[in-house]
Amino acid sequence: MATTAHDTTILAALQQALGTDAVIEAGDRLDYFANDVYRSGARPLAVVRPTSIEALQEAVRLCNETGVAMVPRGGGASYTDGYVRQEGGHVLFDTGALDTLEIDEENAIVTCEAGVTWANLKAALDAKGLRTPFWGPFSGIAATVGGSVSQNTLSHGTTMHGISAQSVISMDVVLADGSLLSTSASKATRFYGPDLTGLFTGDCGIFGIKARIRLPLLPVLPKFECLSYAFDSFADYHKASRKAALARLDDSHFGLDLALSQGQIGRQEGVGARLKIAADILRKAPNKLKGLAQLVKMALAGEDAMKAGAYMCHFILEGADQDEATLKAKQLRRLLDGIGREIANSIPTFVHSVPFAPLFNVLGPGGERWVPIHGVLAHDQAVAFDAAFKALIESRKAEMEKLGVWIGTMFSPTGPTGFLYEVALYWPEDRTAYHKATLGEEYLGQQPQFAKNPDASAFVDELKEAIIAVYQEYGAGHFQLGRAYPYQQRLSVEAKSLLSAIKSELDPKGLMNPGALGF
Ligand SMILES: Cc1cc2nc3c(=O)[nH]c(=O)nc-3n(C[C@H](O)[C@H](O)[C@H](O)COP(=O)(O)OP(=O)(O)OC[C@H]3O[C@@H](n4cnc5c(N)ncnc54)[C@H](O)[C@@H]3O)c2cc1C
Repeated sequence: MATTAHDTTILAALQQALGTDAVIEAGDRLDYFANDVYRSGARPLAVVRPTSIEALQEAVRLCNETGVAMVPRGGGASYTDGYVRQEGGHVLFDTGALDTLEIDEENAIVTCEAGVTWANLKAALDAKGLRTPFWGPFSGIAATVGGSVSQNTLSHGTTMHGISAQSVISMDVVLADGSLLSTSASKATRFYGPDLTGLFTGDCGIFGIKARIRLPLLPVLPKFECLSYAFDSFADYHKASRKAALARLDDSHFGLDLALSQGQIGRQEGVGARLKIAADILRKAPNKLKGLAQLVKMALAGEDAMKAGAYMCHFILEGADQDEATLKAKQLRRLLDGIGREIANSIPTFVHSVPFAPLFNVLGPGGERWVPIHGVLAHDQAVAFDAAFKALIESRKAEMEKLGVWIGTMFSPTGPTGFLYEVALYWPEDRTAYHKATLGEEYLGQQPQFAKNPDASAFVDELKEAIIAVYQEYGAGHFQLGRAYPYQQRLSVEAKSLLSAIKSELDPKGLMNPGALGF
């Protein structure tokens, strides 16, 4: 896209306000920022990386004055076109340099700037024996608190404490005109009148750019038990997961089908990886002997643990002391007895030991491209959805085989009421600038590489839409809406009208992440 006089004016103004180092307006790096994990969009006009909240406000004010679209980006680890636009001409706000945090132990609150990663937050809190209730997605090495809270995220801590939005007390948000809105009038509680904090969770940045987020603190429960179970059918898996989600004995649990267990996740469990994590497990073991016993168990289990059933569920249970962790494990075993069979616990042990692994999984186990699609189902829809989804895949089997497209499925509770069913699609296709920058030449040099494959990519795009349509048929909700999932069509007339009025009030020119959530 050619640069206009208008573009030159806003670029000069941003450079003057933030300094030239904080503004990228040319070069290959813009290609990286034009991609999320799945989709390639148009290059932004510029990427700005403010180093203070005042600088962020000033940059937003300048964009607003000149009528330039603004798109926030945290760690960039999403795949739902949340920060990718096909139109271009926007300024992308990279929040990565807003990375300070303040721990207020007396009031049990941590205040993070939006660009703090979950891995850095955990490292800072670990040093004080503290944690947040929800404590990050598996992508937390890159994913930020601001990004996760903006699109609703789950995983670590989710069975016990729910998703990211449930662990936020309040936020400071930079609105489209550059002003700073605080979502709670009290430091002590989110629940002081209508829940303004809730309004900004899951908004994908359409209401403003989060600058600071306050989260509650809890003491770390230092002792743990890891349990794994195998199931012969999805119905059994779901029954067990539902029981566990209601009992809330585990901090988190997640499930994998055989394809994922042996493929993408199993890859991390190869012999080399096991050796690498061995030292880590021993280092963190509650006592060294137990750590050693764990390692021996993992080594003996070998890859067979990954083939023990059609579905596997992995639990991490915590306790203030070993007795508490062991008691929870005993109670869970009692709940699952007769539904599945216990298998070696190497996968949850690995996840406990390395909760934020490097982002190798942005490509498949054979270097394929990867995109997950999910829906949050009510329990009474899960088994019926599974059957409908499998019927859809069966009807596409011939094309999938022809094009080399394959799938795996993964599951998680979202709290007692919701069951997240996630489908990962893999297909042979060339990498993008995102994969190259994220994984680096050395790692990629050891991976198979594919040529450009527009036929397979077009098929995957169409299959993704067909899968989303089945989710919709079964009444699923979605996190990480971005530009990928239907939203407004599911709202009542009243809800849609209220949301539009709020959007007009906060962003009258429609400049904040245009297109996300259908705005
Ligand atoms: C290997 C891998 C594992 C993953 N595991 C999980 C998982 O366990 N659970 C899970 O839920 N997801 C997971 N994800 C998806 C994704 O990483 C997470 O949802 C994560 O929360 C994204 O955070 P981010 O900082 O990278 O956000 P980004 O991708 O940068 O942005 C996400 C959205 O939020 C908006 N946004 C970002 N920052 C701000 C801000 N400061 N203010 C306003 N809007 C903002 C963006 O515009 C975009 O719409 C995984 C992804 C990968 C690649």
